[in-house]
Amino acid sequence: MEGAMDDVRIRETLALAWERCPALRTRMEEAGLALEDIRGEEELARIPVLKKDQLGVLQTQAPPFGGLLAVDVKDLARIFVSPGPIFDPQGAVPDYWRRAQALEAAGFGPGDLVVNTFSYHLTPAGFMYDEGLRALGAVVVPTGVGNRELQVEIITKLGITGFVGTPSFLAALLEVAREKGWGPGSFPIRKALVSAEPLPSSLRNMFQDEWEIDTYQCYGTADVGTIGFECSQKEGLHLAQDMVVQICDPVTGEPLPPGQVGEVVVTLLSPVYPLIRFGTGDLSKFLEDSCPCGRWASPRLAGFMGRVGDAVKVRGLFI
Ligand SMILES: [Zn+2]
Repeated sequence: MEGAMDDVRIRETLALAWERCPALRTRMEEAGLALEDIRGEEELARIPVLKKDQLGVLQTQAPPFGGLLAVDVKDLARIFVSPGPIFDPQGAVPDYWRRAQALEAAGFGPGDLVVNTFSYHLTPAGFMYDEGLRALGAVVVPTGVGNRELQVEIITKLGITGFVGTPSFLAALLEVAREKGWGPGSFPIRKALVSAEPLPSSLRNMFQDEWEIDTYQCYGTADVGTIGFECSQKEGLHLAQDMVVQICDPVTGEPLPPGQVGEVVVTLLSPVYPLIRFGTGDLSKFLEDSCPCGRWASPRLAGFMGRVGDAVKVRGLFI
């Protein structure tokens, strides 16, 4: 994200968070920062990174959202629970996690019947996709996790056109489908958006070449929702809207230039949950070239490249 308009949104979000989120205010004041010190993306890096494990600590100190929620708890739509436990809010707005843009880039839209094989319990993954698909006008069949034989029956009886879930679960479904006598010509799924796991190119090739399922990846977290997604080039992840993504030195929090691997640090420009400089603990890097699709001007992420703990151990290798 860049430009004067984005800096305005950063200032607006910070002003709101300063007013309503005492934990953000404390973090800035402890770093000797006043609200006026942050004029845009460049100065954002002066705010210390909030690591994911610190989020759990803050939530324990000031339950349930650690002084980081900008609305009243009773104005939320849902509350989810990540391992920790860490509570994740869903604001009462359509497509709260901004997943529709990733689905649209993967070719999902009106007329699609989609099995949503992510869990709808505790984790927000199921609802993230559900809301995004509904925002696009697609029909959702909330099949959730497991029940492979039943899922294959549902897919073939309903003429399901799209799959969302993990790549390994899609592979497992296709294995059952093959056992039941279905093949690329008869099995109806034609598109897939996968996340939550790496997608090896061997698996993508199998989905696409063998089963004719056009397969895309999406990347996000339970805390901040969609971060990046693939376009038709399938080379790197375009950045999602309504957030600032920085790749930072995992130790100092300093932004790193394109090509260097660091922690994915997200600032969520949300009036509900304005997480500022949130350290996801994931490693990635910005790609140095622009995407031939020309659809989005923003830089692209290389995708998930490991966890920060691994990088610190072998820091010389990465940085
Ligand atoms: Zn592109």
